[in-house]
Amino acid sequence: MIALSGARLVEVGTANRTRAADYARAIADPEHAPVGTILRVHPSNFRALGFVEEASIEELCQLGVPVIDDAGSGVLIEGLPQLADEPAVPRSVRAGAALVCFSGDKLLGGPQAGLIVGRHEAVGAARRHPLARAVRIDKLSLAALEATLRLYREPARARRELPVLAMLEVPAEELVRRARRLAEELGGGGIAVQVVEASARVGGGALPLVELRGPVVALDGGARGVDALADALRAGDPPVVGRIADDRLLLDPRTMGEEELEPAARAVLSAARG
Ligand SMILES: *Cc1c(COP(=O)(O)O)cnc(C)c1O
Repeated sequence: MIALSGARLVEVGTANRTRAADYARAIADPEHAPVGTILRVHPSNFRALGFVEEASIEELCQLGVPVIDDAGSGVLIEGLPQLADEPAVPRSVRAGAALVCFSGDKLLGGPQAGLIVGRHEAVGAARRHPLARAVRIDKLSLAALEATLRLYREPARARRELPVLAMLEVPAEELVRRARRLAEELGGGGIAVQVVEASARVGGGALPLVELRGPVVALDGGARGVDALADALRAGDPPVVGRIADDRLLLDPRTMGEEELEPAARAVLSAARG
């Protein structure tokens, strides 16, 4: 994409430490003139830990060169503790980035799509590029995206109604209640069922460092083994997707709505019967 734009890419800083002064030096270097833009790309699904340093979006936006910020997952609500380390789109916009790119699905919670927001003339230039038409969003996805974004007008409502945000914030006592109910529904079905504590991760590698602790329903695979049980559940109708840890199939109440507990239990009992 960068080659297609005709830009020459200049790396700034080192793999683990990069300061605003490194950018300022690169911008001032006559070999790099004219500098068109600073591109920052969020390392969504990996992190460098320890002896690391990077320039903030505010510092980058004060260097006098338009900034393109590829923010990744699309965090529109600030103040959620689980998302504290993710770049928030409003922060980049406030900082003055010319363009902020982010995903429509990941943490935004909408359809698969890519969004570009920012300054009027920069967004206009992106819109006029021939590629914009090639990657144009279809009308049904657009309708879904609009419905998702409307929820964000009331942040409290978005946190309640967008599954990805709601699942991040399920209260501990609700998780316990759902896990116990699922375990009860499974009782007497001839499979060993236990409620245990486990760590869940957010899908798509969007939050590589976040571990969500909570109770899960652990199933013994029985005579056929845990892989066969997991296969049968995935292939069932409705499909039930669990995760395997320590030779047990874990069903996580975090990603199950109240109305899904009973159908999930029925699916497990039917899969266990073979
Ligand atoms: C996910 C991601 C993309 C691609 O976004 P999709 O809309 O999910 O295809 C681009 N850049 C970054 C930094 C990302 O995290």
